[in-house]
Amino acid sequence: MRQTLKAMLITTCALLMLSACGAGAASGERRDAQTPLKVVTSFSLLSDMATVIGGSDVDVHNLVPVGVHPHDYEPRPADIRAAADADLLLYNGLNLEGGEHGWFIKLTKVVGQGKSNLVEVASEVKPLHITDSKGRTEVNPHAFPDPNAGIVMATTIRDAFIQKDPHNADEYEARAADYITKLKAMDEKYSALIAEIPPSQRVLVTSERAFQYLAKTYGLKEGFLWSVDTDETGTPEQIKSLVTFIEENDVPGLFVESNVDRRPMQTVATETGVEIDGVLMSDEIGKPGKMGDSYLEYLDHNITTIHRVLAP
Ligand SMILES: [Zn+2]
Repeated sequence: MRQTLKAMLITTCALLMLSACGAGAASGERRDAQTPLKVVTSFSLLSDMATVIGGSDVDVHNLVPVGVHPHDYEPRPADIRAAADADLLLYNGLNLEGGEHGWFIKLTKVVGQGKSNLVEVASEVKPLHITDSKGRTEVNPHAFPDPNAGIVMATTIRDAFIQKDPHNADEYEARAADYITKLKAMDEKYSALIAEIPPSQRVLVTSERAFQYLAKTYGLKEGFLWSVDTDETGTPEQIKSLVTFIEENDVPGLFVESNVDRRPMQTVATETGVEIDGVLMSDEIGKPGKMGDSYLEYLDHNITTIHRVLAP
C-alpha cells in the first residue's frame, strides 16, 4: 500500500506544475481577502466543522470520503492537486491519520506543503491512551465523539482561519461563537440524558474503542472488541474477552458503529443473549441527507441512541 501511494504521488507530482509541487504554498498571511481560503481537511468531521466556521470565506476539499476509514487512506489525483494548492490543511492528529509517518503527513511532504500551513485540529485536546493487541500503548485518536473535544477543535479551526485570513476575522469569530454555543448545549444534553440512565447501566459496548473520551467525560464504563480499527478485528480472543465483560456487567444492549463489520458483535450478541440495539457513529459523519450528516447531528444521533438503549 505504501509503495503504491509513493509511486502515485510521484507520478501525479510530475504531472502537476512544478511550482505547486516543488516550492510549496506561501506561508503566513494571505494577500487577497476576497478569494476564499483554500482549505483541505483530512476527513468528513473536519470538513463539516471547517465549512460551518469558514462559511463563504473558505473553499473546502475533503480527503477521506464517508465510508472509508481515516486511519489509512490512499489519496486520489484530485486530492493531491488540492493539497498542493491549499492555503491551509486541517487534520485531526492524535494519530488518527497514522501520525508522523502516516498517509496525511506523507501527502503534505510530497506536495511540498510546509508545517506553517498544517493545523493539527486536536492538538489542544488532552490525549488518552489505548493498548493494542500486541501490548503497545498509543494515543487514542477518537476525541471527537465528546462534544467538549469538539469545542476545543472548533476553537483551533477558528484561530487558524483568523491567522491565515485576518481581514475576515469578525466573520470567523461570529460563526465560531454561534457554533460553540450549540456545542455547549449539546454537552448539556449529554449530561442530562446520561443522568437518566441508572448508574449500573451506564455501560457502552462498541466494536472499536472509539468512545473513550466520551466515556471518561460522562462517566460511562467501556466494553469493546478491539482498541483501534487498524489492529486485528474480531479475533476469538477479543470476542471471548467481551463476552466475559458482558457477563460481569449490567449491559442493557450492544452497539455497533456505522463504519464497522457488525459480524463480530453479532457473535457476541448470540453468545450472551444481549442484543445489538443501536448504531453509533464514530469516524465519520453521514452522507448528505442521511443519518448524522453534520457533526452536530452526529453528536445528537449518538446521545439519543445511547439514551434509548441504556435508559429504562
Ligand atoms: Zn477509528
